Amino acid sequence: MLFTDLKLSEPILKAITDQGYTTPSPVQAQAIPFILEGRDMLAGAQTGTGKTAGFTLPMLEILTRTKNTKGPRHIRVLILTPTRELAAQVGESVKTYGKYLPYKSAVVFGGVGIQPQITTLRNGVDILIATPGRLLDHMSQGTVDLRHVEMLILDEADRMLDMGFIKDIRRVISILPPKRQNLLFSATYSDEIKTLCESILRNPAIVEVARRNTSSELVTQKVILVDCAKKSALFGHLVKENKWEQVLVFTRTKHQANKLSDYL
Ligand code: AMP
Repeated sequence: MLFTDLKLSEPILKAITDQGYTTPSPVQAQAIPFILEGRDMLAGAQTGTGKTAGFTLPMLEILTRTKNTKGPRHIRVLILTPTRELAAQVGESVKTYGKYLPYKSAVVFGGVGIQPQITTLRNGVDILIATPGRLLDHMSQGTVDLRHVEMLILDEADRMLDMGFIKDIRRVISILPPKRQNLLFSATYSDEIKTLCESILRNPAIVEVARRNTSSELVTQKVILVDCAKKSALFGHLVKENKWEQVLVFTRTKHQANKLSDYL
């Protein structure tokens, strides 16, 4: 499958091509068609799977298909993320893939001055990326208008719950228009996530992708270059030096396995 098979319009395809991408990742290939149908979605996908483009591309496409008919620029898409870093990253993706489209996006998160954010919001944005705490600040100050949100995206919802944002999320959701499309991305599927999904998703399409093959973050990898003849001795030395008690060794041949075993 190619991006050109996904019913995305020219400005979006051009931005994808600029990035050098031709083939959608599995989560993109599965999620994009459902999202373009207007369905709610629960997607089990971790960082590194291409999930950000998985929701950003169809979100932009939907904005182009359903023109803003409600007068001045207003927030049509709200994306919630657990951390500033992720908010900034998603904000970058929205800019990257939307660079040939006329939409304005803004990122708001805590830990930085609120005033510049207020100015940006007042000037009008179509797509708002926010962390829950700062968004609530804007809500309580009346500096954000979420009355016309058509799409809600919860990115890394499991992390938002882990960080204790559930009440904040519910408060935000409670003021959104009931008629909207909801997308929820989560790497894990706990009872808490299940409850959240049941309360906000209507007949969701479910997309599940395996984690891309990556090595565990808990494992340190090292390469030691050594002559073939000295491998066994070096290995013996490492075991002794590090006082390793359990070691799993892979060798290329049966013969090498026997040789090492005899040596040890
Ligand atoms: P994410 O899982 O959204 O954090 O994305 C992981 C990385 O994959 C990002 O650096 C993306 O720019 C990149 N990426 C996203 N979609 C594709 C694709 N279809 N082909 C190649 N790389 C991609």
